[in-house]
Amino acid sequence: MKCPHCGYDDSRVTDSRDQGEYIQRRRRCERCEQRFSTVERVVLPTLMVVKRDGRREPFRREKLLTGLRLACQKRPIPVGELEAIVEGVESALHKLGQAEVDSRVVGELVMERLRALDDIAYIRFASVYRSYPDIQAMRQEMDHLLMPKAGAQAQDKAQDDGREEAAPRGGREARGGDAKGEE
Ligand SMILES: [Zn+2]
Repeated sequence: MKCPHCGYDDSRVTDSRDQGEYIQRRRRCERCEQRFSTVERVVLPTLMVVKRDGRREPFRREKLLTGLRLACQKRPIPVGELEAIVEGVESALHKLGQAEVDSRVVGELVMERLRALDDIAYIRFASVYRSYPDIQAMRQEMDHLLMPKAGAQAQDKAQDDGREEAAPRGGREARGGDAKGEE
């Protein structure tokens, strides 16, 4: 490891800290005696993400982070949370022990974490990732979000399909309530 100050390639480790995910070392250059730090982390094999159209691309945390940042714009999310999501997703993916993962798996892992963090960011992200076929599908997702989170997680989709949207059939019948002179 070359000294960033003078380029000399020998240094002495003066301190070593195990941070769990990585080890940080303080070093002192043997020639100019200036100090600098290095980080050692495990190098994981490149994970390939299989996209919907079948193309493959390497999993990139930067790309995921950019998507998350967009979804979280102006939301009250503490610094570091998004990095933690990316970290968590990446490690969950590696735990699957597969060389390739479906992009949908990545998306679900992200959404599951984002949902616990911020509903609005979740919907934004989901609207891009799931590309809802129509506003109705998106609405169902939102209804699902609005259901009380307490208690048993409703595993089966308790959808009441009974609700009918007032389809515009041409003849507008102002039904009592919303008669607010809309002309
Ligand atoms: Zn040096």
